[in-house]
Amino acid sequence: MPITVYSADVVVPVTAPAVHNGAVAVQGGRILHVGTRDWVLGTLRGAATPVTEVHWPGVLLPGLVNAHTHLQYSGMAHVGARQYTGFEDWWASFDAVYEAGGHDWRRSAAAGATDSLAAGVTSLADVVTDVEAVGALHDAGLRGVVYWEVIGWANDRWRAEGIARVEAELDRIPTPPAIGVSPHAPYSLETEPLLDLPDVARRRGARLHIHLGESASEGGPLTGPRDETWRNVDAESFQALRRDGFAASATDFVDQLGVLGPDCHIAHGIYLNAHDRSLLRARTTAVALCPRSNAVIGLDEPDVAAYLTEGNLVAVGTDSLASSPSLDLLADVAALYDIARRQGYGAGDLASRLLRAATLGGAIALGMATGPDRVGQLQVGSLADLAFVDVTGATVREAIESVATDGAGRVAATLLGGGVRWASPAWSSRSDRTRVGV
Ligand SMILES: [Zn+2]
Repeated sequence: MPITVYSADVVVPVTAPAVHNGAVAVQGGRILHVGTRDWVLGTLRGAATPVTEVHWPGVLLPGLVNAHTHLQYSGMAHVGARQYTGFEDWWASFDAVYEAGGHDWRRSAAAGATDSLAAGVTSLADVVTDVEAVGALHDAGLRGVVYWEVIGWANDRWRAEGIARVEAELDRIPTPPAIGVSPHAPYSLETEPLLDLPDVARRRGARLHIHLGESASEGGPLTGPRDETWRNVDAESFQALRRDGFAASATDFVDQLGVLGPDCHIAHGIYLNAHDRSLLRARTTAVALCPRSNAVIGLDEPDVAAYLTEGNLVAVGTDSLASSPSLDLLADVAALYDIARRQGYGAGDLASRLLRAATLGGAIALGMATGPDRVGQLQVGSLADLAFVDVTGATVREAIESVATDGAGRVAATLLGGGVRWASPAWSSRSDRTRVGV
């Protein structure tokens, strides 16, 4: 099988230090070698198979992982283009458009898949509410997890028909990619569905994903002694628990129901206090931060600096176009960079930690960071999902800083399994292809 060597001014393997004048050799859709360009080409000298070098005068990253989106709402960009005063304000606007009908969810999701490729995204956590949209990742050949969203169930009706309904809906999702279950949020499902859905997912070995801490109503007490008596109360829902005067946070509540774990990741994580963040760490549960969506909705900023300094598993999501200006994940990386700096995160590793969050962090959140089909890293044997970015820097550190702060709109090419799936005019004119072997 022919070998292609992709070389770049800076290669960011994520699982190893960044390489100046680096290269990645790709064969059969997987990575064969990673290192300096000289070393990779030297290793292949005299190879019995044809070797071609493609040089990009910029930065090479693993394909990005969008750890929270709803591609089906890509046709609702007019909702996301407005500014809201809070979650209820946004929800009312969203719901009016959603309920008005006339949507072509399949087409809308397909458009979102195309946008994602143009932004360097090769794997996604795609939360799907309407069955017409379940095939978007499958049809586009994208990787990731399709999370079937379950929302609006009360205990009585759930008991009568819920599990069978969800099981049947999961059976309709085309694979690959992988399948997951998304219990929407602690306030949109009563206790029994929140208790049962993790079991429904886990019986299949499927992933879990929940919106958590996106609404201020989910926050717990910030200080003071913790009241644990709520654990003995048989509450019909999180709201009922709150109505009855118990101060448990939504994170506490879903943890009590067994939702969290290494097979689960949460979206947003804004209204989580230090105790809640420590619970995520204790359960090995990653958080997908979606700062631009939070800003459109008019929410507070997630505590990015705390998540980083405390050592939480962090990933990045765009959320959907119904609450975000674009599906450009590097724009959310730039937003996180600004927020973290304003919150006092002063260390020099911010850019590389955020690029890690947008690649390996997402892969961890989706259960795709290890095993034969691992992504989110440039490592021997991993899938050759690559994103080339049109930025430069005098040093490796400057180049990484540029990608994190100014990478939005600058992805030059996106490769999935070694095949070019998207290329900009800059890629066509400035990448340099040379036959170097037999
Ligand atoms: Zn969402």
